[in-house]
Amino acid sequence: MKEKIVYWLTGSQTLYGDEVLAHVAQHSQEMADYVNASMPVTVKYLTTCKSSEEIVAAIRKVNEDDDCVGVIAWCHTFSPAKMWIKGLKLLTKPLCHFATQYNERLPYDTIDMDFMNENQSAHGDREFGYILARLRMDNKVIVGYYKDPEALRELAEWCKAAAGFAFSKNVKVCRFSDNMRNVAVTEGDKVEAHIGLGWEVDYYPVGELVDRIGEVTEEEVDRLMAEYAEKYIMDTDRVDVVREQARYEIAIDGFCRENGGYIGIVDHFGTLHGMNQLPGLAIQDLQSKGYGFGAEGDWKIAALGAVMQYMAGQEGTGLMEDYTYDLKDGLCLGAHMLEVSPQFAATKPKIQVHPLGIGGKSDPARLVFEGIAAPEAVAVSMIDMGDRLRLIVQKIELVKYPHKMPKLPVGGLMWKYRPNFKDGVAAWIYAGGAHHTVVSSKLTVQNMVDLGNMWGVEVVVIDEHTELETFKKELLWADRIWKSKL
Ligand code: MN
Repeated sequence: MKEKIVYWLTGSQTLYGDEVLAHVAQHSQEMADYVNASMPVTVKYLTTCKSSEEIVAAIRKVNEDDDCVGVIAWCHTFSPAKMWIKGLKLLTKPLCHFATQYNERLPYDTIDMDFMNENQSAHGDREFGYILARLRMDNKVIVGYYKDPEALRELAEWCKAAAGFAFSKNVKVCRFSDNMRNVAVTEGDKVEAHIGLGWEVDYYPVGELVDRIGEVTEEEVDRLMAEYAEKYIMDTDRVDVVREQARYEIAIDGFCRENGGYIGIVDHFGTLHGMNQLPGLAIQDLQSKGYGFGAEGDWKIAALGAVMQYMAGQEGTGLMEDYTYDLKDGLCLGAHMLEVSPQFAATKPKIQVHPLGIGGKSDPARLVFEGIAAPEAVAVSMIDMGDRLRLIVQKIELVKYPHKMPKLPVGGLMWKYRPNFKDGVAAWIYAGGAHHTVVSSKLTVQNMVDLGNMWGVEVVVIDEHTELETFKKELLWADRIWKSKL
């Protein structure tokens, strides 16, 4: 992600003379360099903007640079904002207005009008903010001293979302199945997702994958088996069953690369004609390498998973399914029939072979492990409301398994809901959140809200501040607003 660039633009004007402008440029360079050190992307000072022509030229550079994922702008001096209009109307990348200042404190003993004119962000950032509001820019505003850890954390979260937003525009999902019959929540408008989020979702008959599986060589399988032996504990003597999964993994990975770079994979246990097992271990290992995965035809979760994996640096992120509750302790056990990512493993995953009562196939190999604990994680769902997409983001706490579950033959996670079990679950259900989610212990609610705002989808948050009756009203109001937008 550090290869991605966020350009730093400073607003000023010529009124205060060359000496002031030299200071403005020098300070901006210094500030951008300082900020860069703690950002997941590279922050580069681009220029000081003093005229409409300069701003148009700067925005053209921002738009045309394929590595650039966004812009940070602020005003060192007063910066008349009519000159920003033409440039801002051309901007195609996310904008963060960082309302900051070069100096943290006022120089109380020496302050005079020269200092006031050179350092007037409070003044300039309001003029700039007006034109952003007037242009309905959907920009982010972050306030604080540029060395303040809290402001830097917010900025880093936004930069990560901006990189995710750019990544999203190139996400391609390969689906070997349509959605599971009769299931509603995994459905959605693929054309709308392509227009709004950049997701390209293509279907291939599973027979083409079965052909590709037939082309995998024994040498290729040997190599992947050696990789498995290093990463996992071989806890079965049914080696042929495991080799079959290795064959699936090589074929799926090869198919995705050879057909145009798919980073999301979708299958469905009911439509794998020609395969002996459900892909379990294969999909788990592919998720550990950055693929997004959606089960039962769920292409939205495959694409969302790919984007979130990228943002999370391929750690602690993957498909999850709200499965079953411990109502006494207010916990949820999440898992899937097989395909839980080893990125969630707290214990070294064991490769085991067990029967599977679903899908009518032979016993599949899968990774079995206990899930990680993390005080703050997110569970994210994307649903199609018919007239827009709704991104639902819930703060959860991943907890250690309170008891051993020796007969559980899959990887899993256990968590507590925010704000509490009752209201957290009710809010999720009122919002229409799906059973399939992408969970991440490496991303924050703010990451996902920033990303959702960049996408321009409806964003619903359930966290420690959620009050159920207010939340229900917010859903009602949002519905009226989104309907009037059409
Ligand atoms: Mn499922």
